[in-house]
Amino acid sequence: MGLQQLEKDLRGALERQEFQLHYQPKLDLASGKITGVEALIRWEHPLQGLLTPTHFIPLAEETNLISLIGEWVLRTACTQSKAWQDAGVPTLIMAVNLSVAQLYQPDFVESVENILHETGLVPSYLELEITEYMTMEIIKIVPILRRLKNIGIKISLDDFGIGYSSLFNFKELPIDIIKIDQSFVNNCLMDLKDATIVKAIIALGHELNVEVVAEGIESKEQLIFLQQNLCDLGQGYFFSKPLPPSEFLVAFHQIEKIISRDGIPAALCR
Ligand code: C2E
Ligand code: MG
Ligand code: MG
Ligand code: MG
Repeated sequence: MGLQQLEKDLRGALERQEFQLHYQPKLDLASGKITGVEALIRWEHPLQGLLTPTHFIPLAEETNLISLIGEWVLRTACTQSKAWQDAGVPTLIMAVNLSVAQLYQPDFVESVENILHETGLVPSYLELEITEYMTMEIIKIVPILRRLKNIGIKISLDDFGIGYSSLFNFKELPIDIIKIDQSFVNNCLMDLKDATIVKAIIALGHELNVEVVAEGIESKEQLIFLQQNLCDLGQGYFFSKPLPPSEFLVAFHQIEKIISRDGIPAALCR
């Protein structure tokens, strides 16, 4: 299928309600508890089946559809988060990925405030994930991030270590969390350099009072390495793939047993 057809389909996808969010848990590596989830968009394409974001987010960004899609993502994620809270699920921080075009919308902060207000989600339970390429225009984005932070929203820097972020930018950004890119996590047991980088990012984060998340944990050995090096939180297929909301609650308690079964006991970990 050509790109033009895909663009045409993308234009109608919101109206036809073809987008879904899947949720991947983030765990506290010391306690094994799920502390939050990351919302990841999927597109149920009528002919091509379930598409992951790399197949359509770049196109959405080029065609300016990203603002509308991004707003849908935020509203849906906040609504889901509130629904889980109301259902008695221990409170989870809901993380939503942003595209740079969203941040630059003149009314972005107001639209986030409106969505929080509409859905009743407390701002401190929302986390916005930005990626390093956004930090190229540091002077433009710092004031926007500060406004979001002042509301009480958490900001995390995704895919840390592979982008354009200099340590200067990192110092200037008002962020609460860094997410070590999964390429480092994936190789940390095979490549001494990756292991060193992972340890250095954790140390840097802790020195600067930033929480550190490891993305893409796929094995018990990686989990133990990260626990030994006092990484705060972890996310990855070893715990769970991103799940549709209908499967999330069922999986919840099984996922919370994983660290006590396969990881280092909490008492020894800190
Ligand atoms: P990301 O924010 O870095 O999300 C992590 C990606 O890694 C997700 O891919 C997730 O499914 C995948 N992943 C999680 N654990 C593992 C693991 O253990 N191993 C491996 N190999 N992969 C793992 P996904 O869902 O395909 O999303 C790709 C990217 O698309 C995201 O990267 C994010 O940058 C972007 N994205 C996702 N949802 C949205 C959205 O709602 N809006 C925007 N603007 N971007 C989104
Ligand atoms: Mg992310
Ligand atoms: Mg990432
Ligand atoms: Mg990524």
